[in-house]
Amino acid sequence: MLINVSNLAPYNSMPVSLKGERVDIPRDGASAEIYFDGSLLNDGKGAYVLDGEVKAVLSLNCDLCLEPFDTDIAFTVNEVFCSEKNSEKEFWSFSDKTIDLKPALIADILLNMPMKAVCSDECKGLCPICGHNLNKGECGCDRVQRDPRFEKLMTLFNDKEV
Ligand SMILES: [Zn+2]
Ligand SMILES: [Zn+2]
Repeated sequence: MLINVSNLAPYNSMPVSLKGERVDIPRDGASAEIYFDGSLLNDGKGAYVLDGEVKAVLSLNCDLCLEPFDTDIAFTVNEVFCSEKNSEKEFWSFSDKTIDLKPALIADILLNMPMKAVCSDECKGLCPICGHNLNKGECGCDRVQRDPRFEKLMTLFNDKEV
């Protein structure tokens, strides 16, 4: 994801596209395959502006059943890169006329990825007693007493009896 901008004249832009580059995401062993379509503009004042659309196929581990699964996210990118000598904190810095898109895109993916990673709305998670993945069938454990929703229901039921 290195882009050499030495031939990009001031006020000119160049097309940038990534077709499924795999990167590691620093969250729970996640990774992503990044697709990007956009452009990089030399703003004539020492900064380069990346604009475009990202589609990322995230490979995550489900928070409930711990199984790996894939999910897509899409978002718009607008990032500014400055060469080191005039860089400010809100800019990505670069040197040697080479811009590395990778850290900026990884940061954007982290901002845009779901807070909770759940493989499906119907995910049943793991059995709290034996750890069996309940999406793969019943394990036979008696979990009735350990289900907090059920216990709440029982409390309501008991209140009405009084
Ligand atoms: Zn799951
Ligand atoms: Zn079980």
